[in-house]
Amino acid sequence: NILAPRQYSAGLNLNNRDETDSLLAGLERWKSHQWQARPQVRISSLTTYQPDIVVGCPFSAHDKVGLVQWAHPDDVYAIIDTAQRAFTHWNNEPRPAFAAQRKTWLLTLADLLETHRHELVMLCVREAGKTLQDAVDEIREAVDFCRYYSGFIDEGFAEPIALPGPTGELNQLHYEGRGVWFCISPWNFPLAIFIGQISAALAAGNAVIAKPAEATSLIAARAVELAYAAGVPQELLQCVPGSGPILGDVFCNDARIAGVAFTGSHKTAHKIAMDLAHRRGPIATFIAETGGQNAMIVDSTALPEQVVKDVLRSAFGSAGQRCSALRALYLQSDIADEVIRLLRGAMNELVVGNPGDVSTDVGPLISMQAKNSLLAHIRHLKSHGKVLAQVDNVPEEGFFLAPVAYEIASISELDDEHFGPILHVIRYQNTDLPKVIEDINNTGFGLTLSVHSRNPEVSGFIARTARVGNVYINRDQIGAVVGVQPFGGLGRSGTGPKAGGPDYVKRFACERTVSVNT
Ligand code: GLU
Repeated sequence: NILAPRQYSAGLNLNNRDETDSLLAGLERWKSHQWQARPQVRISSLTTYQPDIVVGCPFSAHDKVGLVQWAHPDDVYAIIDTAQRAFTHWNNEPRPAFAAQRKTWLLTLADLLETHRHELVMLCVREAGKTLQDAVDEIREAVDFCRYYSGFIDEGFAEPIALPGPTGELNQLHYEGRGVWFCISPWNFPLAIFIGQISAALAAGNAVIAKPAEATSLIAARAVELAYAAGVPQELLQCVPGSGPILGDVFCNDARIAGVAFTGSHKTAHKIAMDLAHRRGPIATFIAETGGQNAMIVDSTALPEQVVKDVLRSAFGSAGQRCSALRALYLQSDIADEVIRLLRGAMNELVVGNPGDVSTDVGPLISMQAKNSLLAHIRHLKSHGKVLAQVDNVPEEGFFLAPVAYEIASISELDDEHFGPILHVIRYQNTDLPKVIEDINNTGFGLTLSVHSRNPEVSGFIARTARVGNVYINRDQIGAVVGVQPFGGLGRSGTGPKAGGPDYVKRFACERTVSVNT
């Protein structure tokens, strides 16, 4: 099931003046629009009144992006009940018809996401602080997920797979939905990962309850409205904005939830796994995609200019707010000074500012809380490391953090993932390479790793021995493409299967064997 290139979303090329101008013109009408998000299931038993919460903007204190109403834990029973009924109803439909229906929904949703691109880009900018390029890429990835996952519906969901057997016996393997999936998505990919989880769960024939991150409920709610416009029944897909800890707890402890798909911190993933393990009833399927302590290893054969370009994108792109982002840059000692010198110069050129401006390279952090936690880490680095480079010119208003690079002695000093534009640089000697890999593996994380080396023996050794889910050689290490670089980590970084990979949809399904004595 290879995704043919023509099926990909075209996206936009922001280096092309005409495309940028037309994007900017299209964004104009959404500049001061206000959106709303409410728990979407409208059933009479939902009585608990929740006040509206004003959604702010991470870079402009006076921008009111919209209003959100959180679901109340008392509503959870009815929400799951609705989903369960919808699942039973649709799962009882003839398989080929239901499968064809799902395919139509997902492909129509993909088209609608593209036709509403301007609105969604502006939402990503104003609610999540995404730069224009990141916002455009985000919509493209969401579209790709819908189209890619819809392609798997033909594999055993519509018609069973025939299995061998003796004469007089017919054996078939059926794939179908597991039931109700609870999908918990992060604010850093408020559309792509939100839609990625939902589209896979729907492709496999499930009912879905989607809880978006608190910070990005408006984007999620708008995406779900588009799913309804694409024909997805409201009972089969519900968007439930609300508090992660409070709602997450109630949903994950409810035995009617057949599976949980989660992208976020490894600590929360542990908590969910514990909840699921302790509840009575069916054993839930759990898919977790969590953080990383991602390294780039640069040896003396690397091309310094290319290294610096890839470091900037990997460490500071999206303000470092990607699970895949580069955190620990290993420089072989004979090339280290040269790379650091170039890096310092290149960091000086970074434009940190309003993410809606075409010239901006680095936008804001998602919240003051995120900024404070990164500032605490910087205070720690000031006393334990050596500052190598720091961007000076950063707006006062908004949750901006100046990209910074510190030299430290070892990756083992990093207790946890620091989710922002902070780069840690570590020097190593050629003979230390096995130890470097050991240290990286010992973090327990295993998401992305990149290697810059013109020596295939070195890159081959690293690719083989580093226990990470995504290895990139002589390039940056972010922006995995759906169906091209299936994405997801090992160990503390996640359970698999990989998002945007050939095994993802099947994990949302259950398998049933039917044997007929003919
Ligand atoms: N898939 C994204 C990438 O390759 C990262 C996803 C995440 O941050 O959760 O950059």
